[in-house]
Amino acid sequence: MKAILFHNHGGPEVLEYGDFETPEPRLGEVQVRLHAAALNRLDLWVREGWPGIKLEYPHIPGADGAGEISALGEGVNGFAVGDRVVINSVLSCGECSHCQAEKDNLCREFHLLGETMRGTYAENSVVPATNLLPLPNEFSFAEAAAAGLVFQTAWHSLITRGNLQAGESVLVVGASGGVNTASIQIAKLKGAKVYVVGSSADKLSLAESLGADVLIDRSKEENWSKAVFKASERKGVDVVVDNVGAGSMPHSLRAANKGGRILTVGNTGGAKFEIDNRYIFGKHLSIIGTTMGTRADFAKVMGLVFEGRLKAVLDRHFPLREARAAQERLEAGEQMGKITLEI
Ligand code: ZN
Repeated sequence: MKAILFHNHGGPEVLEYGDFETPEPRLGEVQVRLHAAALNRLDLWVREGWPGIKLEYPHIPGADGAGEISALGEGVNGFAVGDRVVINSVLSCGECSHCQAEKDNLCREFHLLGETMRGTYAENSVVPATNLLPLPNEFSFAEAAAAGLVFQTAWHSLITRGNLQAGESVLVVGASGGVNTASIQIAKLKGAKVYVVGSSADKLSLAESLGADVLIDRSKEENWSKAVFKASERKGVDVVVDNVGAGSMPHSLRAANKGGRILTVGNTGGAKFEIDNRYIFGKHLSIIGTTMGTRADFAKVMGLVFEGRLKAVLDRHFPLREARAAQERLEAGEQMGKITLEI
């Protein structure tokens, strides 16, 4: 099969379009003929590598994918060759205490497709049948692939862990990234008032088109936690979604209401920063960290995506062989929404 491969860590230049042995499904697994993959920032971090990361080379990037079933392993029921499907990228053992409790994203053997396992920038991928969800007939492969990881992540953070309620206020730090655009939509669907801090007028107008109620441009309001305070009758917001980390977390702690929850699933701005502990105890704040989501979250949120109540924002579509240009676009931060690959 054709795939995007790399043999060592580095910049986009390490990505090669080449041939790799087509993986065959084993017991309980399914081979998917992929039609679309979507890029995530994770793909860049895996390509660059981090201390302790262990990959089997050549590695194939990509967590998100959608396509048609091309072969079934033994013991697979409920699916047939030709079925249209979207892939849940969280790979779990199904047996540990966390998996048994249906908290499969806490699995002791947790793997993520495209991170520590070969991923979806390829013509075929093999995953456990339990990682597939049927795709409605008319639903596009690219839109399904683009939605998967970011909506599952945002749903798990805001709803399953954050327990967001109708009538609460939510601040989303960042206006245009995949998880943030998903968070804005989920918060609106839940009946929350949504504040967004963004870095430019273009990105904020995207947030507004998704339903954001209060827009704060941090290129004009450097001290944006003050702006949030003013806009919320000097109370602050009930929930803050901060996936930026360094540079933003001190503001997020200040922008929260008493009893507020700070949700984080990542750190696009950097991992290490100072925290003023007085905000945490003085305002009774909860800091809630999560990564990815459970199988139940995936099924629930993708159902809403299939119904059209939630929608991935699509940026550009590249052919598989141009994955390097696609990653360069993501790395430069030029995208508005999800970049996808057509396979
Ligand atoms: Zn497990």
